Amino acid sequence: MILKTLKSFHSKNFPSNFDAKMETVPRKALNDREKAFLRAVERAHNNLTYAFSNEFGDDFNHRKLLVGKSDYADAWTDGKYTINWNRKLLRKVGLGIRGAYELICALVHEYAHDDSSIGRSHTHGELFMELFHRMMDRCSEDIGVAVENVAAAAPIFMRKEGVVWWSQRDLNSRPRGS
Ligand SMILES: [Zn+2]
Repeated sequence: MILKTLKSFHSKNFPSNFDAKMETVPRKALNDREKAFLRAVERAHNNLTYAFSNEFGDDFNHRKLLVGKSDYADAWTDGKYTINWNRKLLRKVGLGIRGAYELICALVHEYAHDDSSIGRSHTHGELFMELFHRMMDRCSEDIGVAVENVAAAAPIFMRKEGVVWWSQRDLNSRPRGS
């Protein structure tokens, strides 16, 4: 999990209702921009997980990408089958390369968690650090390609969804249904 206020917010300070703060948004409830961004990321994600599979072999488990909402976390995972991005993080794809980079880094972070980061069990232990380092180090070129692909595919999928390019103003406004 990546906390929005990682530097000052530790798991021991989680409020008692922390679980309730992380919800998956059904795909049909996403707006057209979010759908376009998700499609752009899904394609890059498939290529990236192929690279991870080559590096990690049978131990590597491809996870489904979901969009969620949370006041606290930018991304979270169940450690095995799913990764959720906060929809506000997904919208950063509209910033181009730097937004795509932030998203892909969050993806790698979540893949380095082999335990659930939902709720209070979020830790970054030695195993996490080792795995994260190995992914960033050995798959750096594939990660770079994924970032480029997300940034390049986003406008194409936006045209397909019939929506216009983001502006900074759009990015600061709340998405529909959030
Ligand atoms: Zn984490």
